[in-house]
Amino acid sequence: MKTHVRVLVIGGGVVGVSTLYHLTKKGWTDVALIERTELTAGSTWHAAGLLPLFNMSYTVGQLHKYSVDLYKRLPAETGQDVSFHVTGNLRLATCKERMDEYQKYCGTANTIGVPFEVISPARVKELWPLIELGGGADTPAIIGALYHPHDGHIAPADLTMALRKGARSAGAEIYEHTEALGIERTASGEWQVRTSISDITAEHLVLATGNYARQSGRLLGLNVPAIPVEHQYIVYDQSAELQAYRQGGGRELAVLRESDKSYYLREERRGWILGPYENGAPARFADGVPDWFGRSLFPGDLDRLVPHVEAATRRVPALENCGIKDIVNGPISYTPDGSPLIGPAWGLRNVWLNEGHSFGITAAGGSGWQLAEWIVEDEPGIDMLAVDPRRFGAYTSKRYVVKKNEETYRNVFVIHFPDEERPDARPAKTSPVYDRIDAKGAVWGQRYGWERANWFAPPGVERRDRWSFRRSNYFEHVGNEARLMRERVGLIDLTPFTKHEVTGPRAESWLDGLVANKVPAKIGRMALCHALTRRGGIRSEFTITKIAEQHYYVVSAGAAERYDSDYLFKSLPRDDSVGLRNITNTRGCFVLAGPKSREVLAQLTDTALDNASFPWLTAQTIEAGLAVEVYALRVNFVGALGWELHFPIEYAHHLFDALFEAGKAHGMGMVGMRAMESLRLEKSYRMWGSDMTPDYTPFEASLDRFVRMNKGPFIGKEALEKQLAGGVPNRFVTLEVHGVTDADPLGNEPLFDARGGMIGRATSGYYGHCLRKSLAIGYTRAEFAQPGTQLAIEILGERKQATVVRESPYDPDNLELRA
Ligand SMILES: Cc1cc2nc3c(=O)[nH]c(=O)nc-3n(C[C@H](O)[C@H](O)[C@H](O)COP(=O)(O)OP(=O)(O)OC[C@H]3O[C@@H](n4cnc5c(N)ncnc54)[C@H](O)[C@@H]3O)c2cc1C
Repeated sequence: MKTHVRVLVIGGGVVGVSTLYHLTKKGWTDVALIERTELTAGSTWHAAGLLPLFNMSYTVGQLHKYSVDLYKRLPAETGQDVSFHVTGNLRLATCKERMDEYQKYCGTANTIGVPFEVISPARVKELWPLIELGGGADTPAIIGALYHPHDGHIAPADLTMALRKGARSAGAEIYEHTEALGIERTASGEWQVRTSISDITAEHLVLATGNYARQSGRLLGLNVPAIPVEHQYIVYDQSAELQAYRQGGGRELAVLRESDKSYYLREERRGWILGPYENGAPARFADGVPDWFGRSLFPGDLDRLVPHVEAATRRVPALENCGIKDIVNGPISYTPDGSPLIGPAWGLRNVWLNEGHSFGITAAGGSGWQLAEWIVEDEPGIDMLAVDPRRFGAYTSKRYVVKKNEETYRNVFVIHFPDEERPDARPAKTSPVYDRIDAKGAVWGQRYGWERANWFAPPGVERRDRWSFRRSNYFEHVGNEARLMRERVGLIDLTPFTKHEVTGPRAESWLDGLVANKVPAKIGRMALCHALTRRGGIRSEFTITKIAEQHYYVVSAGAAERYDSDYLFKSLPRDDSVGLRNITNTRGCFVLAGPKSREVLAQLTDTALDNASFPWLTAQTIEAGLAVEVYALRVNFVGALGWELHFPIEYAHHLFDALFEAGKAHGMGMVGMRAMESLRLEKSYRMWGSDMTPDYTPFEASLDRFVRMNKGPFIGKEALEKQLAGGVPNRFVTLEVHGVTDADPLGNEPLFDARGGMIGRATSGYYGHCLRKSLAIGYTRAEFAQPGTQLAIEILGERKQATVVRESPYDPDNLELRA
């Protein structure tokens, strides 16, 4: 066994082996993998092997697509068959909302180039002759289906062996019966792993330990939010009807999913495999996998499966006469949002996670591909924010993860409404004024563990969302909140903002090297600054304010707390010239905005608020009411006259009450997240994570005014220089969408030119309540970005005309902001 390697992968399931394989493809061959027992001994050996291309996420969709393409090539490359049955996948719809979901998905699929067909019930019957199209109360009529002709199912162990062969032939080593027992950092910064055989030191470590993620994380002091849930499938005996169909020349049936009844069904040796996602499946191994488990399975629990078996039998009567051969009940790793954890571990250099895979056979190829890219190139090749392990924070306690994972499991097949807010493990993190906001009728949502008011139900209105892909019950109320902000004054609680304090003699120069804009040099100035990837993509957005000499206040998206904090801490110089503190939980933030906001705030402070004394884009430390040390930033995300008040958290109650008391005379009210979405779209404000991602440079995002190419070096500058020299391929656009009656764009819709060619994608969309227009923002090829250009946007399967309009269609000259 080697004593030193460049990368050591821990875990020999399909995901670990794929990571090893892809590292060798990137040219890193001094790599090894250790497996505590035998390859595939974890969840991989008993997986059903389905490879669904369907996924609502732009990122995960790309990973799955890569996998399916790779698995088709692997046998020729490695000489190892992988039993890939390209049967296709058929997802049934029995209600209009389900069809809306499929149509929304088709938008994403189009933008990433996944082939699919939306088909009629007659075509379903043609493809799947053994199906009942239904029509009664028990078996609702199929009204359509989504068909992926190019995926199917695979033999997971064969796939793992093919990847192993590919990796080993390139020089990678694999050591079975070798368990990682302890990990320590060496003086030179490498990782020394004590194994059951001998020690091995590595520059980089990858954890790909499946159900063992909790305990392998603990070896490094990491609380990994991946806990398995039981998942079972039933293996049936041979089916006479299926045999007759196949003997009659019928081709292998597509993998069938009746989403509205939460099960999948596929052929297996002329019989069936039926896999439900049922209610009541428990999380397991929250404290780690016990020694006795090993390669075993849990006893089957048929009672939980009965409703799904009955539904499937009504839909496919051929199941009726088949005996049950076996029930496979195994642990399937889950995370609180159902997506895997692929990328850097927080707080540790050169430690990488490829954990939390619930569709790991499908995602193994893509996750290995991008993780290898990330390790070797220091950056992934595509936007990986949706799977970045740092999208979760310290709030993922064991009980939180257990509850959320069980909830995610039983919701695998629910309709993924864009405005869905799941109830379990809530409320967890709340702003101090939660109760006060609740008393104002808040309808709550959750992000990064924080409760946030999405909208406010006026007295007498039901405090509940009716989730939809279309305008829904809250539409009118959100409109009223948006207009309140534009016409009078409103308050948004943005306490969840991520906040860092940067101090010390090198604070300015250090920050300046991280971001593309010039960091403010004068006290009281602020700048919108973007940290870029080495490829020039947008990594993070920070509002940087100079509070005092050698003292900066750095604010970024609430959901980016661990992601940004990890980046900042890992970028710190090794001496003491820069001090960095994450002060997110020590300050609250109220956005007070609207034409009357000055009059409201003036009642609480002696600081002069007129334009000359307190201009737009400046900041002052003020007293407000009884509160001291309030950072008042004259900036906001809604595009109105106003201030973000960042106050010491202990003043939250006082400030809230004092502001509302002062606001009474002006009809001040609360404004929720959905109104903020509408308001920011009217101003073309880009949102980190959807409109600003590593996929696009600030030039593509038309944020040129926030890039100072003539200042000193900053990360990503070289890539930007190259892009400027070669031409900026895409440009940010704001679109007015015509002819919308009830389905506004929401992001991830494809954009087409007049001849029907796809030329870009929307990244966000909403109804602009004050403009009374349906709006989208996104990217097109540069030649289509001129205002006035006519395009088409596909919303829920319908093409709508759209016009590229000037940026910031509401108050384009920012007169209200400067008022
Ligand atoms: C019943 C069932 C059906 C499924 N069907 C599908 C499907 O149809 N399609 C699909 O895409 N997915 C399916 N899955 C999910 C799929 O099985 C997993 O997502 C996938 O196998 C995860 O692979 P992995 O490599 O991450 O983990 P694993 O296969 O669990 O591998 C992790 C490995 O790490 C090793 N290890 C742990 N700790 C250490 C250590 N300290 N030192 C050394 N080695 C260590 C373990 O021994 C293990 O072999 C199914 C799962 C279940 C339970």
